[in-house]
Amino acid sequence: MSADLGRLGGLNRHLAPRAHPRPRRRCAGTSRKTLGGSVTPSRREFIKFVVAGSVAAGGPIDPTLLAVPDSKSPSVPLVHGERFEVCHQIRDGHPFKHPDTTRNADIVIVGGGLAGLSAAYFLRGKDWLLLEKEPQFGGNALQEEFQGQIYGTGSAYAYRDDEGDQLASEIGLRMPLVNSPDPTIVNRTYVPDTWKTGIDQLPYPKEVRESFKKFRDDTMKIKVGEKMAELDAQPFSNFTAAYAPEVQQWWDGFGASNWGATTEESSAYVGLANVQDLTSGGDSKRAILPGGLGCLTHKLVEVLQPKYQERMLDNAAVVAAIQDHGVVRVTYLHQGKLITVSAKAVLMCAPKHIASRIVMGLPSRQKTAMRRYRFAPYPVVNVIFPKPVYNRGYDNWCPGSVFTDFIVADWTMQKNPGYQQKHNILSFYTPLRELERSTLLDENGCKSLAARVLSDFQKLLPEFNVDPVEVRIYRRGHPMFMAVPGQYTKNRPVASRPLDRIFFGNSDSGGPESLTSEAVRLSRAGAEWAELLVGGKPGARELAEKALLAIPE
Ligand SMILES: Cc1cc2nc3c(=O)[nH]c(=O)nc-3n(C[C@H](O)[C@H](O)[C@H](O)COP(=O)(O)OP(=O)(O)OC[C@H]3O[C@@H](n4cnc5c(N)ncnc54)[C@H](O)[C@@H]3O)c2cc1C
Repeated sequence: MSADLGRLGGLNRHLAPRAHPRPRRRCAGTSRKTLGGSVTPSRREFIKFVVAGSVAAGGPIDPTLLAVPDSKSPSVPLVHGERFEVCHQIRDGHPFKHPDTTRNADIVIVGGGLAGLSAAYFLRGKDWLLLEKEPQFGGNALQEEFQGQIYGTGSAYAYRDDEGDQLASEIGLRMPLVNSPDPTIVNRTYVPDTWKTGIDQLPYPKEVRESFKKFRDDTMKIKVGEKMAELDAQPFSNFTAAYAPEVQQWWDGFGASNWGATTEESSAYVGLANVQDLTSGGDSKRAILPGGLGCLTHKLVEVLQPKYQERMLDNAAVVAAIQDHGVVRVTYLHQGKLITVSAKAVLMCAPKHIASRIVMGLPSRQKTAMRRYRFAPYPVVNVIFPKPVYNRGYDNWCPGSVFTDFIVADWTMQKNPGYQQKHNILSFYTPLRELERSTLLDENGCKSLAARVLSDFQKLLPEFNVDPVEVRIYRRGHPMFMAVPGQYTKNRPVASRPLDRIFFGNSDSGGPESLTSEAVRLSRAGAEWAELLVGGKPGARELAEKALLAIPE
């Protein structure tokens, strides 16, 4: 993790020109604007911008994946993630160094996000080793704090009684219900409960409001569950195009925020299922604590570490997993040394674009399916205000802003007796287009984006024109797989099939969108699968197939 605690330099620089042509249409939330608005140069000087997170987290551009050059290549220095020679070496299949086995474990878990941590939890008492390449566990579900106040940098909320919520209860975490239907803030107007009572208050011409209603009512008539394969094969925009552009704009933001894709790039199955869920009150089941689902990974580490510290290695990047005579040899880089551990079973809880590069011997069809996954670059910008600025709704949608929505971090604590909000921390979700990923490689690019977030926020309503004490940007290059057409029903089942002794347990083996509940569900199945395999018992293959085919409610 890199953190720049210095004063902002170069904040007023525009982003560097892109090497790629612009996409035809941009994410709803990512219109490029210059700085300006209410963030004047003198005010900027007082605001501290902090950039953290790893663009390469989970990405192929990782120095620890450096291949050993063959004799014909010029010698390659250990390079930074940004150097694309590394990607080329991996892509071109240069051989990695694989030292002899010096360690054994029944089960190796690769990746310490929610999937890997829950697998370790379900396998308590067994012989496992967890390898995480970052200096901390948590992956996309990570909480941070500012002067003792907790906030989330990624995954936001669970649903009451989903797999994540059940695990939370099991380890002693109670996540209160959100109890707040989503408002929309647009055209300098706050509209509560957007898709129910709010529709009539949307600050648009009457015919646009009618179009919102018609879209909602028409969508409710579609038998989404019965037509899953048919709907998953086409873009969601097929179902939004006939309505006012403002309808599509709203769902462009919702899709980009929740499943990494605008309506044109989303599966219609995912889009329509979400419309139905939202308009029929599914959002009333949302439950969370201030750290978002980082509260769950934080608690898992708290529960596991006292007993299993030696088996939980951070800064341990796996570079290869090779099946070899009934075992899997897993090589990882730790404290500057390559080490090989031999395992009877591996739970591969790193995402597919990584798995496809470190698991050797994948059938070509499966490897191709893994590489077909698309990932949205996704910074989250936390803005810390010294006094209450906004506390009127939990998750707030802002069509036309550089961010898609923002969350009030301590929302579910606010009604606790005696609770006093010290700082008003707002988490801004700012998914980018894939072509904009390189923005995140440059700290000034990140700061500029964060400044635009602040500027757009301050323009939403007059009372928002308040300066924060600090702005924290958490950047991730490939955190969320995009729910594009065909991903769930066609591509995922091919990509996620277990390979003999390797189970692909990352949440991207599930769906239909990127969900922490799927991370937990799959790791529960993966843990059972591994126990069967290690114990030499039958049924592992059937269990894995059932887990892959299960459709979450
Ligand atoms: C901004 C954002 C908001 C979200 N909001 C929600 C939400 O509200 N609700 C919800 O349910 N879901 C949400 N999600 C999705 C959710 O965060 C993910 O589905 C879930 O956290 C993924 O967990 P995971 O363990 O499967 O994968 P990850 O979190 O990606 O964990 C994989 C881990 O593997 C590690 N790793 C990668 N390569 C290697 C290697 N070579 N060696 C060792 N380790 C490696 C990574 O560093 C990482 O820690 C959100 C996601 C994002 C990005």
